[in-house]
Amino acid sequence: MSEHSEATTHSAGAGEPSGDLATRYREALLPVFGSPQRILARGEGVRVWDTEGTEYLDLLAGIAVNALGHAHPAILAALTKQAQTLGHVSNFFASAPQIELAEKLLTLAAAPAGSGVFFANSGTEANEAAFKLARRTGRPRILALTSSFHGRTMGALALTAKESYRAPFEPLPGGVEFVPAGDEDALAAALAPGDVAAVFAEPIQGEAGVRPLSVPYLQALRRLTREHGTLLILDEVQTGMGRTGHWFAHQAVDGLQPDVMTLAKGLGGGFPIGAMVTFGREVHDLLQPGQHGTTFGGNPLASAAGLAVIGTLLEDGLLEHVRETGEHVRAEVAALQHPLITEVRGAGLLLGIGLARPLAKEVAAAALEAGFIVNAPDESTLRLAPPLIITAADLDTFIAALPGLLEQAAPGAATSAAAPSGAAPTQGEH
Ligand SMILES: *Cc1c(COP(=O)(O)O)cnc(C)c1O
Repeated sequence: MSEHSEATTHSAGAGEPSGDLATRYREALLPVFGSPQRILARGEGVRVWDTEGTEYLDLLAGIAVNALGHAHPAILAALTKQAQTLGHVSNFFASAPQIELAEKLLTLAAAPAGSGVFFANSGTEANEAAFKLARRTGRPRILALTSSFHGRTMGALALTAKESYRAPFEPLPGGVEFVPAGDEDALAAALAPGDVAAVFAEPIQGEAGVRPLSVPYLQALRRLTREHGTLLILDEVQTGMGRTGHWFAHQAVDGLQPDVMTLAKGLGGGFPIGAMVTFGREVHDLLQPGQHGTTFGGNPLASAAGLAVIGTLLEDGLLEHVRETGEHVRAEVAALQHPLITEVRGAGLLLGIGLARPLAKEVAAAALEAGFIVNAPDESTLRLAPPLIITAADLDTFIAALPGLLEQAAPGAATSAAAPSGAAPTQGEH
Protein backbone atom coordinates (compact mmCIF):
# COMPACT_ATOMS: atom_id res chain seq x y z
CA MET A 1 0.00 0.00 0.00
CA SER A 2 2.96 2.31 0.65
CA GLU A 3 3.37 2.85 -3.08
CA HIS A 4 0.08 4.69 -3.03
CA SER A 5 1.34 7.30 -0.61
CA GLU A 6 1.33 10.04 -3.24
CA ALA A 7 -1.51 9.14 -5.56
CA THR A 8 -4.49 7.55 -3.92
CA THR A 9 -6.71 7.72 -6.96
CA HIS A 10 -6.07 6.81 -10.56
CA SER A 11 -7.33 9.62 -12.68
CA ALA A 12 -6.59 9.13 -16.34
CA GLY A 13 -6.50 12.85 -16.94
CA ALA A 14 -3.94 14.70 -19.01
CA GLY A 15 -0.72 15.32 -17.18
CA GLU A 16 -0.93 12.06 -15.22
CA PRO A 17 2.69 10.99 -14.94
CA SER A 18 3.25 7.87 -17.04
CA GLY A 19 5.66 6.54 -14.41
CA ASP A 20 7.56 3.35 -14.78
CA LEU A 21 5.29 0.72 -16.35
CA ALA A 22 6.39 -2.02 -13.96
CA THR A 23 5.48 0.16 -10.98
CA ARG A 24 2.18 1.09 -12.55
CA TYR A 25 1.50 -2.61 -13.21
CA ARG A 26 2.07 -3.36 -9.52
CA GLU A 27 -0.20 -0.54 -8.47
CA ALA A 28 -3.03 -1.20 -10.91
CA LEU A 29 -3.24 -4.99 -11.31
CA LEU A 30 -3.96 -7.77 -8.88
CA PRO A 31 -0.81 -9.68 -7.95
CA VAL A 32 -2.02 -13.17 -8.94
CA PHE A 33 0.56 -13.59 -11.71
CA GLY A 34 3.59 -12.35 -9.78
CA SER A 35 5.85 -9.81 -11.45
CA PRO A 36 5.76 -9.75 -15.24
CA GLN A 37 9.11 -10.81 -16.73
CA ARG A 38 9.06 -8.05 -19.32
CA ILE A 39 6.55 -5.55 -20.65
CA LEU A 40 6.07 -6.33 -24.30
CA ALA A 41 5.40 -3.69 -26.89
CA ARG A 42 5.10 -5.43 -30.23
CA GLY A 43 5.39 -8.70 -32.10
CA GLU A 44 5.93 -9.88 -35.63
CA GLY A 45 6.15 -13.49 -36.77
CA VAL A 46 8.08 -15.49 -34.16
CA ARG A 47 9.64 -12.43 -32.53
CA VAL A 48 8.51 -9.93 -29.90
CA TRP A 49 10.05 -6.72 -28.62
CA ASP A 50 9.82 -5.27 -25.13
CA THR A 51 9.34 -1.62 -24.23
CA GLU A 52 13.11 -1.18 -24.10
CA GLY A 53 13.35 -2.33 -27.72
CA THR A 54 15.00 -5.65 -26.86
CA GLU A 55 14.15 -8.48 -29.27
CA TYR A 56 13.16 -12.00 -28.21
CA LEU A 57 12.60 -15.24 -30.11
CA ASP A 58 9.18 -16.36 -28.87
CA LEU A 59 9.40 -20.10 -28.16
CA LEU A 60 6.30 -20.10 -25.95
CA ALA A 61 3.73 -18.29 -28.13
CA GLY A 62 1.70 -16.95 -25.22
CA ILE A 63 1.54 -20.52 -23.84
CA ALA A 64 0.73 -22.43 -27.03
CA VAL A 65 -1.70 -19.76 -28.20
CA ASN A 66 -0.14 -17.77 -31.05
CA ALA A 67 -0.24 -20.63 -33.54
CA LEU A 68 0.55 -18.29 -36.44
CA GLY A 69 2.94 -16.12 -34.46
CA HIS A 70 2.38 -12.40 -34.03
CA ALA A 71 0.56 -10.05 -36.41
CA HIS A 72 0.01 -12.77 -39.01
CA PRO A 73 -1.51 -11.21 -42.16
CA ALA A 74 -4.29 -13.84 -42.36
CA ILE A 75 -5.50 -13.04 -38.83
CA LEU A 76 -5.15 -9.30 -39.38
CA ALA A 77 -7.17 -9.50 -42.58
CA ALA A 78 -9.87 -11.71 -41.08
CA LEU A 79 -10.28 -9.58 -37.94
CA THR A 80 -10.25 -6.31 -39.87
CA LYS A 81 -12.83 -7.49 -42.36
CA GLN A 82 -15.04 -8.94 -39.64
CA ALA A 83 -14.78 -5.84 -37.42
CA GLN A 84 -15.83 -3.72 -40.37
CA THR A 85 -18.81 -6.00 -40.95
CA LEU A 86 -20.21 -7.36 -37.69
CA GLY A 87 -18.32 -7.63 -34.41
CA HIS A 88 -20.68 -9.00 -31.80
CA VAL A 89 -24.29 -10.15 -31.80
CA SER A 90 -24.93 -12.19 -28.57
CA ASN A 91 -26.32 -15.68 -28.84
CA PHE A 92 -29.84 -14.39 -29.38
CA PHE A 93 -28.51 -14.26 -32.93
CA ALA A 94 -26.16 -16.33 -35.03
CA SER A 95 -23.56 -15.41 -37.63
CA ALA A 96 -22.05 -17.18 -40.62
CA PRO A 97 -18.46 -17.28 -39.23
CA GLN A 98 -19.68 -19.02 -36.06
CA ILE A 99 -21.58 -21.66 -38.04
CA GLU A 100 -18.70 -22.17 -40.45
CA LEU A 101 -16.17 -22.56 -37.63
CA ALA A 102 -18.35 -25.14 -35.88
CA GLU A 103 -18.68 -27.11 -39.15
CA LYS A 104 -14.93 -26.97 -39.74
CA LEU A 105 -14.16 -28.23 -36.23
CA LEU A 106 -16.60 -31.13 -36.61
CA THR A 107 -15.01 -32.05 -39.94
CA LEU A 108 -11.45 -31.84 -38.62
CA ALA A 109 -12.47 -33.95 -35.62
CA ALA A 110 -14.15 -36.49 -37.93
CA ALA A 111 -17.17 -36.20 -35.64
CA PRO A 112 -20.12 -38.44 -36.56
CA ALA A 113 -23.57 -37.17 -37.51
CA GLY A 114 -25.39 -35.60 -34.57
CA SER A 115 -22.27 -34.03 -33.05
CA GLY A 116 -22.17 -30.38 -32.01
CA VAL A 117 -20.06 -27.46 -30.82
CA PHE A 118 -20.48 -25.00 -27.94
CA PHE A 119 -18.27 -21.92 -28.15
CA ALA A 120 -16.82 -20.30 -25.03
CA ASN A 121 -14.04 -17.75 -24.48
CA SER A 122 -11.29 -19.77 -22.80
CA GLY A 123 -10.09 -23.22 -21.91
CA THR A 124 -11.44 -23.09 -18.42
CA GLU A 125 -14.89 -22.18 -19.75
CA ALA A 126 -14.82 -25.00 -22.28
CA ASN A 127 -14.06 -27.42 -19.44
CA GLU A 128 -16.71 -25.83 -17.27
CA ALA A 129 -19.24 -26.58 -20.03
CA ALA A 130 -17.99 -30.18 -20.21
CA PHE A 131 -18.31 -30.50 -16.43
CA LYS A 132 -21.93 -29.35 -16.59
CA LEU A 133 -22.62 -31.68 -19.50
CA ALA A 134 -21.17 -34.58 -17.48
CA ARG A 135 -23.49 -33.79 -14.57
CA ARG A 136 -26.43 -34.19 -16.94
CA THR A 137 -25.74 -37.93 -17.22
CA GLY A 138 -27.22 -38.15 -13.71
CA ARG A 139 -24.22 -40.12 -12.48
CA PRO A 140 -22.60 -38.76 -9.30
CA ARG A 141 -18.87 -39.39 -9.79
CA ILE A 142 -16.33 -37.77 -12.10
CA LEU A 143 -12.72 -38.89 -12.50
CA ALA A 144 -9.72 -36.73 -13.33
CA LEU A 145 -6.05 -37.66 -13.39
CA THR A 146 -3.27 -36.81 -10.97
CA SER A 147 -1.13 -33.88 -12.23
CA SER A 148 -4.07 -32.68 -14.33
CA PHE A 149 -4.66 -29.03 -15.21
CA HIS A 150 -8.09 -28.02 -16.49
CA GLY A 151 -8.36 -24.35 -15.49
CA ARG A 152 -9.10 -21.97 -12.64
CA THR A 153 -12.84 -21.42 -12.35
CA MET A 154 -14.43 -23.38 -9.50
CA GLY A 155 -15.60 -26.21 -11.75
CA ALA A 156 -12.39 -26.49 -13.79
CA LEU A 157 -10.40 -26.17 -10.57
CA ALA A 158 -12.35 -29.06 -9.05
CA LEU A 159 -10.93 -31.14 -11.95
CA THR A 160 -7.39 -29.80 -11.43
CA ALA A 161 -5.12 -31.85 -9.21
CA LYS A 162 -2.64 -29.25 -7.99
CA GLU A 163 -3.21 -28.83 -4.25
CA SER A 164 -1.77 -25.30 -4.03
CA TYR A 165 -4.29 -24.11 -6.63
CA ARG A 166 -7.22 -25.87 -4.90
CA ALA A 167 -6.69 -25.47 -1.18
CA PRO A 168 -7.42 -21.72 -0.85
CA PHE A 169 -10.81 -22.15 -2.53
CA GLU A 170 -12.39 -25.15 -0.90
CA PRO A 171 -15.09 -26.30 -0.86
CA LEU A 172 -15.00 -26.94 -4.60
CA PRO A 173 -17.84 -28.58 -6.55
CA GLY A 174 -18.06 -32.16 -5.33
CA GLY A 175 -17.95 -35.61 -6.82
CA VAL A 176 -14.50 -35.39 -8.43
CA GLU A 177 -11.90 -38.06 -7.66
CA PHE A 178 -8.33 -38.29 -8.90
CA VAL A 179 -6.86 -41.51 -10.23
CA PRO A 180 -3.13 -41.92 -10.89
CA ALA A 181 -2.31 -40.96 -14.48
CA GLY A 182 -1.12 -44.02 -16.39
CA ASP A 183 -2.45 -46.63 -13.96
CA GLU A 184 -4.89 -48.82 -15.88
CA ASP A 185 -5.80 -50.99 -12.88
CA ALA A 186 -6.70 -47.98 -10.75
CA LEU A 187 -8.85 -46.66 -13.59
CA ALA A 188 -10.64 -49.98 -14.00
CA ALA A 189 -11.32 -50.20 -10.28
CA ALA A 190 -12.67 -46.65 -10.09
CA LEU A 191 -14.99 -47.22 -13.06
CA ALA A 192 -16.22 -50.64 -11.94
CA PRO A 193 -19.27 -49.52 -9.91
CA GLY A 194 -20.77 -48.03 -13.10
CA ASP A 195 -21.64 -44.70 -11.48
CA VAL A 196 -18.96 -42.53 -13.09
CA ALA A 197 -20.29 -39.79 -15.37
CA ALA A 198 -17.02 -38.90 -17.08
CA VAL A 199 -13.27 -39.18 -17.07
CA PHE A 200 -11.34 -35.99 -17.87
CA ALA A 201 -7.84 -36.36 -19.34
CA GLU A 202 -5.25 -34.35 -21.27
CA PRO A 203 -3.53 -36.47 -23.96
CA ILE A 204 -0.31 -34.66 -23.01
CA GLN A 205 -0.32 -33.06 -19.58
CA GLY A 206 1.13 -29.69 -20.51
CA GLU A 207 1.15 -27.78 -17.25
CA ALA A 208 2.46 -30.86 -15.44
CA GLY A 209 5.65 -30.65 -17.49
CA VAL A 210 4.64 -31.87 -20.98
CA ARG A 211 3.96 -35.44 -19.88
CA PRO A 212 2.22 -37.58 -22.51
CA LEU A 213 -0.20 -40.30 -21.53
CA SER A 214 1.07 -43.52 -23.12
CA VAL A 215 -0.78 -44.92 -26.12
CA PRO A 216 -1.81 -48.09 -24.22
CA TYR A 217 -3.20 -45.96 -21.40
CA LEU A 218 -5.15 -43.76 -23.82
CA GLN A 219 -6.55 -46.91 -25.42
CA ALA A 220 -7.49 -48.25 -21.99
CA LEU A 221 -9.22 -44.96 -21.19
CA ARG A 222 -11.36 -45.37 -24.31
CA ARG A 223 -12.06 -49.07 -23.85
CA LEU A 224 -12.92 -48.89 -20.14
CA THR A 225 -15.07 -45.75 -20.34
CA ARG A 226 -17.03 -47.32 -23.20
CA GLU A 227 -17.49 -50.54 -21.23
CA HIS A 228 -18.98 -48.66 -18.31
CA GLY A 229 -21.08 -46.12 -20.20
CA THR A 230 -18.80 -43.32 -18.96
CA LEU A 231 -17.97 -40.27 -21.06
CA LEU A 232 -14.36 -39.81 -22.13
CA ILE A 233 -13.67 -36.07 -22.08
CA LEU A 234 -10.33 -35.10 -23.61
CA ASP A 235 -8.99 -31.68 -22.72
CA GLU A 236 -7.15 -30.63 -25.88
CA VAL A 237 -6.97 -26.98 -24.86
CA GLN A 238 -3.18 -27.06 -25.12
CA THR A 239 -2.66 -30.04 -27.46
CA GLY A 240 -5.32 -29.21 -30.06
CA MET A 241 -5.34 -27.18 -33.28
CA GLY A 242 -2.22 -28.66 -34.85
CA ARG A 243 0.09 -28.16 -31.90
CA THR A 244 1.23 -31.81 -31.88
CA GLY A 245 1.32 -32.21 -35.68
CA HIS A 246 -2.22 -33.61 -35.74
CA TRP A 247 -5.34 -31.49 -35.66
CA PHE A 248 -5.98 -32.99 -32.24
CA ALA A 249 -3.46 -35.00 -30.23
CA HIS A 250 -5.81 -37.97 -29.81
CA GLN A 251 -5.78 -38.48 -33.59
CA ALA A 252 -2.26 -39.87 -33.24
CA VAL A 253 -3.87 -42.97 -31.71
CA ASP A 254 -5.70 -45.21 -34.18
CA GLY A 255 -9.43 -45.38 -33.58
CA LEU A 256 -9.37 -43.12 -30.53
CA GLN A 257 -12.30 -40.74 -30.48
CA PRO A 258 -13.50 -39.06 -27.30
CA ASP A 259 -17.13 -38.32 -26.39
CA VAL A 260 -16.26 -34.71 -25.68
CA MET A 261 -13.24 -32.61 -26.56
CA THR A 262 -12.40 -29.16 -25.24
CA LEU A 263 -10.32 -26.59 -27.14
CA ALA A 264 -9.03 -23.05 -26.67
CA LYS A 265 -5.44 -21.72 -26.73
CA GLY A 266 -4.40 -22.10 -30.39
CA LEU A 267 -7.96 -22.00 -31.72
CA GLY A 268 -8.12 -18.21 -32.08
CA GLY A 269 -4.41 -17.68 -32.71
CA GLY A 270 -4.41 -15.08 -29.91
CA PHE A 271 -8.03 -13.97 -30.06
CA PRO A 272 -9.84 -15.43 -27.02
CA ILE A 273 -12.08 -18.35 -27.94
CA GLY A 274 -12.78 -21.78 -26.49
CA ALA A 275 -14.92 -24.65 -27.69
CA MET A 276 -16.50 -27.84 -26.49
CA VAL A 277 -17.05 -30.43 -29.20
CA THR A 278 -19.47 -33.29 -28.51
CA PHE A 279 -19.36 -36.53 -30.49
CA GLY A 280 -22.58 -38.28 -31.50
CA ARG A 281 -26.27 -37.67 -30.89
CA GLU A 282 -26.46 -39.04 -27.36
CA VAL A 283 -23.83 -36.68 -25.95
CA HIS A 284 -25.23 -33.80 -28.02
CA ASP A 285 -28.58 -34.12 -26.27
CA LEU A 286 -27.23 -33.96 -22.71
CA LEU A 287 -27.31 -30.15 -22.60
CA GLN A 288 -30.80 -28.94 -23.40
CA PRO A 289 -31.92 -25.44 -24.46
CA GLY A 290 -31.47 -23.02 -21.56
CA GLN A 291 -29.07 -25.24 -19.60
CA HIS A 292 -25.90 -23.38 -20.52
CA GLY A 293 -24.97 -20.08 -22.09
CA THR A 294 -22.49 -17.27 -22.72
CA THR A 295 -22.64 -13.70 -23.94
CA PHE A 296 -19.44 -13.55 -25.95
CA GLY A 297 -18.87 -17.20 -26.87
CA GLY A 298 -18.54 -17.76 -30.61
CA ASN A 299 -18.93 -14.12 -31.53
CA PRO A 300 -18.20 -13.22 -35.16
CA LEU A 301 -14.77 -11.72 -34.44
CA ALA A 302 -13.52 -14.71 -32.46
CA SER A 303 -14.97 -17.10 -35.04
CA ALA A 304 -13.31 -15.20 -37.88
CA ALA A 305 -9.97 -15.52 -36.08
CA GLY A 306 -10.54 -19.27 -35.68
CA LEU A 307 -11.34 -19.64 -39.36
CA ALA A 308 -8.17 -17.74 -40.30
CA VAL A 309 -6.08 -20.07 -38.11
CA ILE A 310 -7.60 -23.22 -39.58
CA GLY A 311 -7.41 -21.89 -43.15
CA THR A 312 -3.74 -20.98 -42.78
CA LEU A 313 -2.79 -24.26 -41.11
CA LEU A 314 -4.39 -26.06 -44.07
CA GLU A 315 -3.13 -23.85 -46.89
CA ASP A 316 0.43 -23.67 -45.63
CA GLY A 317 0.69 -27.40 -44.85
CA LEU A 318 1.60 -26.51 -41.28
CA LEU A 319 0.69 -29.83 -39.65
CA GLU A 320 3.41 -31.59 -41.60
CA HIS A 321 5.76 -28.70 -40.85
CA VAL A 322 5.01 -29.09 -37.13
CA ARG A 323 5.81 -32.82 -37.23
CA GLU A 324 9.06 -32.22 -39.13
CA THR A 325 10.33 -29.32 -37.01
CA GLY A 326 9.35 -31.18 -33.83
CA GLU A 327 11.42 -34.19 -34.93
CA HIS A 328 14.23 -31.82 -35.86
CA VAL A 329 14.28 -30.33 -32.35
CA ARG A 330 14.29 -33.79 -30.76
CA ALA A 331 17.19 -34.91 -32.94
CA GLU A 332 19.22 -31.75 -32.41
CA VAL A 333 18.70 -31.68 -28.65
CA ALA A 334 19.64 -35.37 -28.45
CA ALA A 335 22.74 -34.64 -30.54
CA LEU A 336 23.93 -32.19 -27.88
CA GLN A 337 24.48 -35.27 -25.67
CA HIS A 338 24.37 -32.89 -22.76
CA PRO A 339 24.71 -34.55 -19.36
CA LEU A 340 22.07 -32.26 -17.82
CA ILE A 341 19.44 -33.10 -20.48
CA THR A 342 17.67 -36.38 -19.80
CA GLU A 343 15.06 -36.51 -22.57
CA VAL A 344 12.67 -34.60 -24.80
CA ARG A 345 8.98 -35.36 -24.15
CA GLY A 346 5.84 -34.38 -26.02
CA ALA A 347 4.85 -34.28 -29.68
CA GLY A 348 5.09 -31.88 -32.58
CA LEU A 349 5.84 -28.41 -31.24
CA LEU A 350 4.72 -29.07 -27.68
CA LEU A 351 8.00 -30.21 -26.20
CA GLY A 352 9.39 -30.63 -22.70
CA ILE A 353 13.14 -30.79 -22.33
CA GLY A 354 13.77 -32.82 -19.19
CA LEU A 355 16.68 -31.73 -17.00
CA ALA A 356 18.65 -33.98 -14.66
CA ARG A 357 18.52 -31.28 -11.98
CA PRO A 358 15.84 -28.86 -10.79
CA LEU A 359 17.31 -25.96 -12.77
CA ALA A 360 14.51 -25.16 -15.18
CA LYS A 361 13.55 -21.80 -13.67
CA GLU A 362 17.18 -20.64 -13.71
CA VAL A 363 17.66 -21.80 -17.30
CA ALA A 364 14.45 -20.08 -18.42
CA ALA A 365 15.66 -16.85 -16.76
CA ALA A 366 19.04 -17.12 -18.47
CA ALA A 367 17.27 -17.79 -21.76
CA LEU A 368 15.21 -14.62 -21.40
CA GLU A 369 18.36 -12.59 -20.77
CA ALA A 370 19.79 -14.13 -23.94
CA GLY A 371 16.69 -13.24 -25.98
CA PHE A 372 14.69 -16.51 -25.90
CA ILE A 373 11.23 -16.92 -24.35
CA VAL A 374 10.69 -20.41 -22.93
CA ASN A 375 9.12 -21.50 -19.65
CA ALA A 376 9.54 -23.93 -16.80
CA PRO A 377 6.23 -25.74 -16.11
CA ASP A 378 8.04 -27.61 -13.34
CA GLU A 379 11.47 -27.35 -11.78
CA SER A 380 13.13 -29.84 -14.10
CA THR A 381 11.38 -29.16 -17.42
CA LEU A 382 11.82 -26.49 -20.08
CA ARG A 383 8.73 -26.15 -22.22
CA LEU A 384 8.85 -25.14 -25.87
CA ALA A 385 5.53 -24.31 -27.52
CA PRO A 386 6.54 -21.91 -30.28
CA PRO A 387 4.37 -20.52 -33.07
CA LEU A 388 3.65 -23.37 -35.49
CA ILE A 389 5.18 -21.30 -38.30
CA ILE A 390 8.65 -21.30 -36.72
CA THR A 391 11.52 -22.48 -38.90
CA ALA A 392 14.11 -25.10 -37.99
CA ALA A 393 16.76 -22.39 -38.39
CA ASP A 394 15.16 -20.25 -35.67
CA LEU A 395 14.84 -23.25 -33.37
CA ASP A 396 18.50 -24.09 -34.01
CA THR A 397 19.61 -20.74 -32.59
CA PHE A 398 18.05 -21.73 -29.27
CA ILE A 399 19.45 -25.26 -29.32
CA ALA A 400 22.89 -23.87 -30.06
CA ALA A 401 22.57 -21.50 -27.08
CA LEU A 402 21.23 -24.17 -24.71
CA PRO A 403 24.56 -25.56 -23.40
CA GLY A 404 25.66 -22.02 -22.56
CA LEU A 405 22.36 -21.30 -20.80
CA LEU A 406 22.68 -24.50 -18.75
CA GLU A 407 26.23 -23.52 -17.81
CA GLN A 408 25.03 -20.07 -16.77
CA ALA A 409 22.23 -21.53 -14.65
CA ALA A 410 24.52 -24.01 -12.92
CA PRO A 411 28.22 -23.27 -13.45
CA GLY A 412 30.19 -26.49 -13.59
CA ALA A 413 27.10 -28.69 -13.27
CA ALA A 414 27.52 -30.20 -16.73
CA THR A 415 30.89 -31.66 -15.86
CA SER A 416 29.75 -33.03 -12.50
CA ALA A 417 26.37 -34.27 -13.74
CA ALA A 418 27.71 -37.75 -14.37
CA ALA A 419 27.94 -38.20 -10.60
CA PRO A 420 24.69 -39.19 -8.85
CA SER A 421 22.86 -35.94 -8.12
CA GLY A 422 20.04 -37.29 -6.01
CA ALA A 423 17.54 -35.98 -8.55
CA ALA A 424 15.20 -38.73 -9.64
CA PRO A 425 15.14 -39.27 -13.40
CA THR A 426 12.06 -37.74 -14.95
CA GLN A 427 9.29 -40.03 -16.04
CA GLY A 428 8.89 -40.16 -19.80
CA GLU A 429 5.30 -41.27 -20.12
CA HIS A 430 2.66 -42.21 -17.68
C1 LIG B 1 -4.46 -23.53 -20.48
C2 LIG B 1 -5.25 -24.75 -20.20
C3 LIG B 1 -6.54 -24.66 -19.66
C4 LIG B 1 -7.16 -23.35 -19.23
O1 LIG B 1 -7.35 -22.50 -20.30
P1 LIG B 1 -7.61 -20.93 -20.03
O2 LIG B 1 -7.84 -20.39 -21.40
O3 LIG B 1 -6.38 -20.41 -19.36
O4 LIG B 1 -8.79 -20.81 -19.18
C5 LIG B 1 -7.25 -25.83 -19.50
N1 LIG B 1 -6.73 -27.02 -19.82
C6 LIG B 1 -5.48 -27.13 -20.34
C7 LIG B 1 -4.97 -28.49 -20.71
C8 LIG B 1 -4.70 -26.01 -20.53
O5 LIG B 1 -3.46 -26.14 -21.01
